[in-house]
Amino acid sequence: MNTSSYKPRQITIGGQKYRIVYKKDLDDFGNLDVDKKIITIRENLNNKDRLDTLLHEAFHACLALSGLSYLIDDENKEEALVRAFDSLLLPVIKRELRKPYF
Ligand SMILES: [Zn+2]
Repeated sequence: MNTSSYKPRQITIGGQKYRIVYKKDLDDFGNLDVDKKIITIRENLNNKDRLDTLLHEAFHACLALSGLSYLIDDENKEEALVRAFDSLLLPVIKRELRKPYF
């Protein structure tokens, strides 16, 4: 088992660089500051939760960058859409990437 820590400091979304910071005692697993291009993730998550949280916040960033956030115009609806991606599509992508072609 890989015991090294997955802890990226930067991620590029839609050609834009987002800084990733880790913070102790964050209320949520993560959050996104669209204007400052900062993703904050709770310190002390395991690698899987850290990746899942980063991808969750990255999807929020995609909605903001694409302008779709303005169409949704409702935090709860946006959260529901992002969680649907988290729980339904993301596991499919992860499983496909485990196939030997990659
Ligand atoms: Zn969210």
